[in-house]
Amino acid sequence: MKTKYSIWEVFKFQIKGILEANKSFIFYIFIIYAFSAGILNVVTVLFPRYIIDAIVVQNINDLFLWIFIYGFSILVLMLLSTISQNIFSGNATAIKFLQARIFFKKYRHVSYRYLEDPTFQAKRSTALWASLGNNDSGYEGTLRSLFRLFPQILTVIGLTILLGLFRPIIVIVALLLSLLQYQFDLRGKKYKFEHRDELNELERKANYFFLTGHDFSFGKDIRINQIQEQFFANHKEKSNIFTSLFKKLNVMGFRFSIPGMFFITITNGLTYFLTANAYMSGEISIGEVSSIIWATLAITLGMQRMFTEIAKIKEDTSYTSEYMAFLENDDYFPKREGIEIELETLAIELVNVSFKYPNSDKFALKNISLKINSGDRLALVGINGSGKTTLVKLLCGFYEPTEGTILINGVDIKTIDLEYYRNKLAVIFQDVLVYAASILENIVGLSKDPIEHEKAMQALKLAGLYEKTKSFPKEEHQELLKVINPSGTDFSGGEKQKLSIARALYKEDTSLIILDEPTASLDAIAEKEIYDNFKTLINNRTALIISHRLASTRFCDNIVLFENGEILEYGTHESLMNKEKGTYRSMFLTQGKYYQKGALQNETI
Ligand code: ADP
Repeated sequence: MKTKYSIWEVFKFQIKGILEANKSFIFYIFIIYAFSAGILNVVTVLFPRYIIDAIVVQNINDLFLWIFIYGFSILVLMLLSTISQNIFSGNATAIKFLQARIFFKKYRHVSYRYLEDPTFQAKRSTALWASLGNNDSGYEGTLRSLFRLFPQILTVIGLTILLGLFRPIIVIVALLLSLLQYQFDLRGKKYKFEHRDELNELERKANYFFLTGHDFSFGKDIRINQIQEQFFANHKEKSNIFTSLFKKLNVMGFRFSIPGMFFITITNGLTYFLTANAYMSGEISIGEVSSIIWATLAITLGMQRMFTEIAKIKEDTSYTSEYMAFLENDDYFPKREGIEIELETLAIELVNVSFKYPNSDKFALKNISLKINSGDRLALVGINGSGKTTLVKLLCGFYEPTEGTILINGVDIKTIDLEYYRNKLAVIFQDVLVYAASILENIVGLSKDPIEHEKAMQALKLAGLYEKTKSFPKEEHQELLKVINPSGTDFSGGEKQKLSIARALYKEDTSLIILDEPTASLDAIAEKEIYDNFKTLINNRTALIISHRLASTRFCDNIVLFENGEILEYGTHESLMNKEKGTYRSMFLTQGKYYQKGALQNETI
């Protein structure tokens, strides 16, 4: 696994990015800009000499001719360079955005365990923000710097020839001093690069408080629990540390640009001295004096800019190298060549499965052995923290067991293609994610197929969200959330849960359905409706149901009771109710008191 890429490898990667974005014409723009801007610099320095000389000898014809040539060439070159610059600018950003989308696509496959890992998050934020988070650094920065670099190279070459013909010593001094300045530039960039992890980490922390403080989904908690003051203070503290480090880095970084100012003065002094001598001895005209002085200034600045761009490219490519290393990290994005097994029906077997979360010493699941036949309904019960959701995460392939094996239709889950397998799962998670799109799109995604549309409407009916959906002026096309569309609406917790149920109903060609507290946010009537439609919801799929409402366990073939990550009791509802001192029985009876002769308890399927 590579952790560092050379400049050339980064260039190759960027060229590939340009081709992938179908923007190969950008190479021509590079060339047009390099020549137009480069020649423009040389013309600006060179031509005034002829105008001045014509003025001195009072040759009106020559004067007008040179003014015309000078004006016309500048006009054409400026037009060309400005147009190419504008074409380039928008496209450079578009190429970066394509790279961001590649990242986005790949990020979907990041091992789930890393999503909760702060070290990974810090690496991600460095890799992403340094390389793709800015228009003039990292990935896009390299493109822009290269774009600016080529005309500088042409300018320097052109003027070096001109000046070299007059006094080579000026060129040699300018080149040596620029090389020296380049060393200082490199040290300056290295200094910045060495501190960027610290800087990013501080910024990430400050941003957390800033962004969360603004995130309207936290709005209620922030107001009611009065945590705004705390957020304010935390943001102030973190951003103060960030700014003081940032200021320090800028001040320290400035040291490295001081020598450059002296170098320009030295080269210019030398040129004035040599040019004045040459003029006084009658070797050159006054027009040439002006050209040479301008050329020296342009060449010193050109070289400095050239080396500054080169140093910047070195810095930017090192950010992109980090980004590439992140993207190619097999640990983060495991390259699993999984197999596709027959999953029309789905049976699960856990053999001595134990699991510890990364960075945790405690077993969240201990030695679990359990069999779920295809089409079976299994209820997972137990108090908070007993390991139910952890088991669901393992079954979704988010984590691999620390010990033991999970068999899906007799095949180790580790060897199955995860994407293919997950397509066969319908999961109703506890924390339902509603995204900024229409109600319909929240179920069918991008599909425009009328059959899928109809299926989604049926699912909304069964989930008890049809009436509500139809009550909006735009019906199922009503946008959710206000982030994208100000006329978007928001759902209540229960409605979100219904939407999640509708998604699971819609995904009917799945073989395993997992319901993690599917009715926790629903009122008693909505809950009853869901249980009434339970058979349709499960639809012969193998089902795993986590619920604190023990009434729901009555619809299941078997019940497993977890305690501290272990199986405490296992059996049918009746068998567990027959255990005189059983925990399940006692939990069921305690809850029963709250659900009087309950609507739900008497339901059967
Ligand atoms: P349940 O779903 O039964 O309420 P969980 O499966 O969520 O319980 O949690 C089981 C145990 O694992 C708990 O002790 C919990 O604190 C711990 N746990 C859950 N998620 C994580 C995590 N991401 N990292 C470390 N420990 C965790």
